[in-house]
Amino acid sequence: MQTPVPDYLDEVRETCAHEGDDGEVASYIPELADADPSLFGVALCTIDGTVYASGDAEHRFTIQSISKPFAYALALADRGLDTVLEHVGVEPSGDAFNEISLEQSGRPRNPMINIGAITTHALVGDADTTPADRVRRIREGLSAFAGRELEVDDAVRRSELDTASRNMALAYLVHAQGKLEGEPHDAVEGYIEQCSLLVDVRDLAVMAMTLASGGRNPVTDEQVVPAWVCRQVLAVMATCGMYDAAGDWMSTVGIPAKSGVAGGVLGALPGQVGIGAFSPKLDRFGNSVRAVRTCERLSRDMGLHLMQAPEVASHVLYGVVEPDDDGDGVREVQLQGTMHFAAAEVALRELERVPDDGAPVVVDLSRVASTNDVGRRMLREGIRRLQRDGHDVRVSDPDRLLDSRDRAEVATDALPADEEGTADTATERADTERPEEEGRATEQAHERSGTDRAGTD
Ligand code: GLN
Repeated sequence: MQTPVPDYLDEVRETCAHEGDDGEVASYIPELADADPSLFGVALCTIDGTVYASGDAEHRFTIQSISKPFAYALALADRGLDTVLEHVGVEPSGDAFNEISLEQSGRPRNPMINIGAITTHALVGDADTTPADRVRRIREGLSAFAGRELEVDDAVRRSELDTASRNMALAYLVHAQGKLEGEPHDAVEGYIEQCSLLVDVRDLAVMAMTLASGGRNPVTDEQVVPAWVCRQVLAVMATCGMYDAAGDWMSTVGIPAKSGVAGGVLGALPGQVGIGAFSPKLDRFGNSVRAVRTCERLSRDMGLHLMQAPEVASHVLYGVVEPDDDGDGVREVQLQGTMHFAAAEVALRELERVPDDGAPVVVDLSRVASTNDVGRRMLREGIRRLQRDGHDVRVSDPDRLLDSRDRAEVATDALPADEEGTADTATERADTERPEEEGRATEQAHERSGTDRAGTD
C-alpha cells in the first residue's frame, strides 16, 4: 500500500491554487518583482525526517524574513537569553514588518519585524565577531537547520542593498538608542545577505521541523541549537511571526509561523510537523495568499491547531493486575503512552490507590512511549514514596525512560530541580535496598512481564 499523504497534499495544493491568488508580488525589492506568480509549492516534514512535497517543490526562492527566527535562534544560542532581551523585546507590535517599532527603552519590540531582526543579526557570534564572520555563521547555521548548504542569491542581495534606505534608517535609529551593536551599515548589509539565502519548500519544512523537534534536525540528526532556544523562538513566532496578522493567524491556523516577502511561509508545530509553502503573491500584510490558505487547510484538516487539547492523559493507565483473594500474585500497575505532567498525575493517583500493606508492587513502563523531565520526576517520586511506605517496588523499564533525558527537553535551568531525597535517589535506593530473597509471587511477575528491579535494567 502507498501512504495517502502525498495524494492529500496534491489535493490541498490544487484546491488552494484554484481558489485564486488575489495578491501582489512584492516589488519594493526590484529583483523580486520578476517572480512567476503561478509558482506554488508545499512540503511537510515529519518528526522522523520524512519529507512530502507537492507542486513547485524544487523551485528556489529567497528566504527573506523567514530567516529572522533562525538568526534569533543563533543569537540566543551565542549570547544567551538575557543579553538578547537587553537588545530586542518579545512583544507583538501590531505593526507592518518595516515599521519603526520601538519600546520606550529604545529596544525594538520583537525580532520578527525588520527593526528587531537587524538588531538581532548584529548579536550573532560574540562581541568580537567581524561582519563577514557573522554572515558566515548565519549561513552555516541556517544550512544546519536545512540540512544542506544554502547559497546566496546575489542578484536579489544587490537589488535589496541598492534600495535599502528604510532598513538603513531603522538600523541608525536603533544605534542612536544604544541597542545596536557595531556599525548600522554592516548590520543592514549582513541582514540583507541573510535574507537572500535561497531555499525551497522542502528546506523550509525541514528547518521548521528542526525548530519543532527541540533543535535536532530530523534528517541529519544534528543538534543545531539547544532545546530552550527553540521554545523561545517558537513562542515569539506564535505571537509576532505573521506581523499585524499574527492574532488572526494564531486563532485560525494556530501554528507558530513566519512569512517572507518572496512568498514563503514556514510553520512549525512542536513535536508534530514542519510545513513549508511558497507562492509569490502577497496579501496586504506581506504574507503569501496561497501559502496562508494552504496552512489554514492543513491546520483544519489535520487538527494541527496548537490550542487543540490533546487526548492523551486519560489513557495513561493500560491496566492494573490485582493479587487474587488468597493474596497470590503481585499487584502490577501498567502504564502506557506519553508521560508528561497530566499523564503522570493520573499515574500517581493510581499508585496512591495501592493498599498500604507493604506488599510488592510492579510498575510496568514497558508500554510507555516517552516521558519528559517532569513526567520522569513525578514517577520516580511516586516510586520513592511507595518504597518509603514499605513496598518492594520493581520497575519494568526496558527503554530506561526513568534515567534518560529526551533530547527535545527544555534546558534544566528552566525546570524545578530535583529535591534532595526525592526522585533522583529513588532508583538508587531501590537498588541498594534489594532484599536477599525474592518473593515467589514477585518472581512470577518478573517472568511474566520481563520485570526488572528499579535501577537495574
Ligand atoms: N529583506 C526584506 C526586508 O528587509 C524582508 C522582509 C520580509 O520578508 N517581510 O524588507
